Amino acid sequence: MAYQTHTICVQGSKKRKEVEHTGAISFPIYQTASYAHVELGESTGYDYSRLQNPTREEVERIIADLEHGIDALAFSTGMAAINALMELFKPGDHIIATDDLYGGTIRLFNGINTKNGLNFSYVDSSKVENVEAAIKENTRAIYIETPTNPMMKVTDLSAMARLASEHGCLLIVDNTFLTPYYQNPLDLGADIVVHSGTKYLGGHNDTLAGFLVTNKESISEQLRYIIKTTGAGLAPMDSWLILRGIKTLAIRMEKHEQNALAIAKWLKSQKKVKEVYYIGLPEHESFEVTQKQCRGYGGMLSFRVEDADTAKRILKKVNLIRFAESLGGVESLITFPKYQTHADVPEEVQKSLGIDDTLLRLSVGIEAVEDLIEDLAQALAE
Ligand SMILES: *Cc1c(COP(=O)(O)O)cnc(C)c1O
Repeated sequence: MAYQTHTICVQGSKKRKEVEHTGAISFPIYQTASYAHVELGESTGYDYSRLQNPTREEVERIIADLEHGIDALAFSTGMAAINALMELFKPGDHIIATDDLYGGTIRLFNGINTKNGLNFSYVDSSKVENVEAAIKENTRAIYIETPTNPMMKVTDLSAMARLASEHGCLLIVDNTFLTPYYQNPLDLGADIVVHSGTKYLGGHNDTLAGFLVTNKESISEQLRYIIKTTGAGLAPMDSWLILRGIKTLAIRMEKHEQNALAIAKWLKSQKKVKEVYYIGLPEHESFEVTQKQCRGYGGMLSFRVEDADTAKRILKKVNLIRFAESLGGVESLITFPKYQTHADVPEEVQKSLGIDDTLLRLSVGIEAVEDLIEDLAQALAE
């Protein structure tokens, strides 16, 4: 019988590969660059840590198991993972992406990958027809984030998988926000899953990491060639920190979600709050799709206040909640997308997405929800 997710977080879905014999419960950190050969033509399975390292291999095993993939590759950051992923494509290839992507991904696509001959179209992928209309002869991939950042729009992944297979292109899904605890894109027909492991997987705002996961042998082979050749693999110590983080992923996600739902409901009752964007609210525009493809709603929400001064005052007055970028850690963080995460997104694109100086994004941590609400209440007060 297959293990449940809580078990996989702690141990993986099979017994771990024993590379040492002390019986250490915590997987050792193999802080080594190179490995001695037994004799000519005989290797221990490890030659040089850019190719593979046991600690990195162990975190990759757990992520592959959690995402129901056949292979996962660990990179030094989420951006390094996405950059390596773009090496699957060649000049002239066209990629359709969600218009409301993580700001750094838009910068990578427009600032680096475009220079290398890739073409991107950005569409609101929460409407399937927008993606369909953007497909061209040379379209090689559909790149989705769901829910999006910061507008929390949801894309129907099964519908995207159908489109992708009809047109012979790859479906790539950045699953950072919901994590494999709440959503498994490969099960819904995606070919590749992307993670910023810096966020919920690590979970403690202390380590950067990125992952690519696939259930296709040929993609796994290509990505293995890319990671060993370009060299952005995750370091042993950081692999261990992510491994340790993942052990509590399931229970953290449950608390993040519980807190986020309570805060979303409370924000809705506040006079100065004009709009709350959280996929767990039944009034969310895609609540039905969410019910169909996710097992939960996660800990991310955005909200709009009555004016820019109120937004600025909240950022100045929060105590427990810290005014900082990033998300997915145990500490609650609030950020101002227009000036931080999405500062590099062109003004007219910001405007069309609804990112302005009244929109705040909250990464709800696992503190006591009463304390978080009290902090927001005093920050909202005059
Ligand atoms: C943070 C983030 C990334 C980039 O990851 P880094 O680890 O910061 O490089 C990519 N996608 C999403 C959705 C993110 O939140």
